[in-house]
Amino acid sequence: LERIEDLGPDEVISVYTDGPFVDLCRGPHVPSTGRIRHFKLLHAAGAYWRGDERRQMLQRIYGTAWFTKEDLEGYLRRLEEAKKRDHRVLGKQLDLFSIQEEVGPGLILWHPKGAMVNFQLRRFIEDVILERGYQLVYTPNVTREELFLRSGHLPLYAENQFPAMAAGEGEAEGVRYRVKPMNCPMHVLIYASQQRSYRDLPIRLAEIANVYRNERSGTLHGMLRVRGLSMDDAHLFLREDQIEQEIFQLLDIVELVLGKTFGLSYRLDLATRPPKKLGTDATWDQAERALEQALKHRGATYRLDQGGGAFYGPKIDIKFNDAIGREWQGATIQLDFEQPERFGLEYTGEDNRPHRPVMIHRAIYGTLERFVGFLIEHFAGAFPLWLAPEQVRVLPISDVQASAARVLHERLRAAGIRSHLDERNETLNYRIRDGELQKVPYMAVVGQREAEAGSVAARGRGEGKKQVVLPVAEFVAKLQEEVRTRSLTPLV
Ligand SMILES: [Zn+2]
Repeated sequence: LERIEDLGPDEVISVYTDGPFVDLCRGPHVPSTGRIRHFKLLHAAGAYWRGDERRQMLQRIYGTAWFTKEDLEGYLRRLEEAKKRDHRVLGKQLDLFSIQEEVGPGLILWHPKGAMVNFQLRRFIEDVILERGYQLVYTPNVTREELFLRSGHLPLYAENQFPAMAAGEGEAEGVRYRVKPMNCPMHVLIYASQQRSYRDLPIRLAEIANVYRNERSGTLHGMLRVRGLSMDDAHLFLREDQIEQEIFQLLDIVELVLGKTFGLSYRLDLATRPPKKLGTDATWDQAERALEQALKHRGATYRLDQGGGAFYGPKIDIKFNDAIGREWQGATIQLDFEQPERFGLEYTGEDNRPHRPVMIHRAIYGTLERFVGFLIEHFAGAFPLWLAPEQVRVLPISDVQASAARVLHERLRAAGIRSHLDERNETLNYRIRDGELQKVPYMAVVGQREAEAGSVAARGRGEGKKQVVLPVAEFVAKLQEEVRTRSLTPLV
């Protein structure tokens, strides 16, 4: 009844019954639960009524039903597989990251190994975009609240923002600060800080920045849904006649990163105006048409996601599949006529008169938290060499080879390879097993023969006892090549 009270007076209300059970539901329902043949109850959990911890506790039972036995079994197998790849479990096992009560829910502590993956991803995307005319900027994590009122994020986006903070000493009484949920308005101010000419455009400002969103603690999930996000963000300021070429460049970057580098298959969704939005229908028409045209001229296939746009403009969302067929939300390309209007952005045209630029908000990984969470599950923790926090583990068979192993370790490091020397007083088998558990791409075993010949016995991850003996120089060269090309398959 509480739900019904929330609905408008003209709302159509449907109720389904099955024996004594009455369900307030949009439907449809099966006429009888007896028709469901292939099902399994998965787990039960307590939940608060309407997610409010001050309300009654309910018992929620989760189950799944399929048309055939094979479909049900296939689904359960995928669940099992997904459980083995769970980034929260692997994150702990591989010592990549943690979430700790003392810091707070949804806030990631990147441990050295996870931080290395994060760092490599940053370096890669920054190299890619700097080659394509982007410029890096850095902006603060907190800002005066007025900035978000001007951009329209407040009050529209208020529920996702952390509450306001009082101003610092020496400022006016009423001034409030917010930790930023987005970078857009700050990049806008950098654009607006000087006179721009049509010849300067496009201007592409990029920043991998921390932003904070006040998600309900019940919706948080490992690295996949967090409160502190590192976005690989950028804002592009362009003339209207540059929209298409810019979208093409963005789709090229998406293909390079997701398609070529990670070997992912992905699809494009064109998301149009949502019910809660800024701006007039005329500007929305214009923006939606521009994106659609760019996709058509590109010859790209895409799906329409009616009402899925951002509140300031339509967008192209890129969704990709992981190794076990689950779909993930990745890159996003959002066209915005609204922010330039609100901030009165201008450039001087060829006609010597002021014109309004168009803005694109875009992220390729989305957030590093989510993308690394995805990569952990996609690769089941076995990162390709260029991303692996530890690339080679050097193992002397016994003390006798300790100095030869150390020389190899130093040589690998000098060559830019992340090498770790394991000279613990444990058996070789024990140390190999440990390296396998840590999913290290290569183990370099140094025995008497290798020490004398200046060679190495290399074992690839997942190759069992198979090993390749090769000269150290060749080993190093192959590793470097595998890293340089960001190969997904081992070269040694
Ligand atoms: Zn933005």
